[in-house]
Amino acid sequence: MLELRNLSVHFDVSKRGKGKTIVRAVNGINLNIGRGEAVALVGESGSGKSTVGKAALRLVDTTDGHILLDGVDITHLERGRQMPLRRKAQMVFQDPHSALNPRMNILRSVAEPLILHTALRGQALTRRVIELLEIVGLQAQFLYRYQHELSGGQKQRVCIARAIALNPDLLVLDEPTSALDVSVQAQILEFLKTLQSDLGLTFLFISHNLAVVRYLCSRVAVMYLGRIVEEGATETVFTTPKHPYTQALLSAVPWPEATQPKGHAPLVGDIPSPVNPPSGCSFHTRCPFARERCRAEAPTWRALAPDHLVACHFAEDLAAS
Ligand code: SF4
Repeated sequence: MLELRNLSVHFDVSKRGKGKTIVRAVNGINLNIGRGEAVALVGESGSGKSTVGKAALRLVDTTDGHILLDGVDITHLERGRQMPLRRKAQMVFQDPHSALNPRMNILRSVAEPLILHTALRGQALTRRVIELLEIVGLQAQFLYRYQHELSGGQKQRVCIARAIALNPDLLVLDEPTSALDVSVQAQILEFLKTLQSDLGLTFLFISHNLAVVRYLCSRVAVMYLGRIVEEGATETVFTTPKHPYTQALLSAVPWPEATQPKGHAPLVGDIPSPVNPPSGCSFHTRCPFARERCRAEAPTWRALAPDHLVACHFAEDLAAS
């Protein structure tokens, strides 16, 4: 459904008279998501995961590489020709409050994509909006309310109703529950899981919450400083992580004891600036296993098992130790 080939996204943030400053947000990543799959992109803030989500939907320009949606190369699709893309793929943002226009009632907010992309008007349009609200667990009484009259969970449900209004195949969900109360998070996650299986949706789920990813996604890709460092089936990666960065992320999560990955070093220090990433393996400044080779040579991407890939020179040694 979605294929990212050697995708790079760099931003020029140079200030006049101060030389060139390039933020290397995403650097040559490859990711394939099959139809109906839920794949997670995880990593700390600043790892580039949200930029990947935005690039996949052409909300930011790419610097290099290709984006294929359902087999069609959309990398250089001009803004004026993106209507078919918007029908196929939609995004749900982290903060539902700022994703909804405070001047529009819920009817108008959810109807907007339908007005832009379909011939539905009048009663038929209102009926479709009611249908969509029902899918996300809201009643018709919400139609004429405004966003400030809704709770955080209700607002996110409205955003999801709007995102699925055109029956898209792919949803990019960028931290969709992190701005919500914990009790509401659980409801929205349960609802997303049901929605994905009922509608056969494909999810690119961006999150730093590994427990949520384990619940919702069958495959996971771990990002560090603009690169994917480990990828595989969620249970495989979570129970036998091979990259020291994945191991450190997992060690910080309080899992039920039986599933707690044991004995991994916690993460220390901050993620380096993507303006000036470290040489060789970009994790070497924080990696407890870094050796001379790590500072000089970037690790290649290789398969340790058919569905478990990693970018670390010493993944096998670390796994054995
Ligand atoms: Fe650590 Fe070296 Fe592996 Fe990078 S390549 S994760 S620095 S051991």
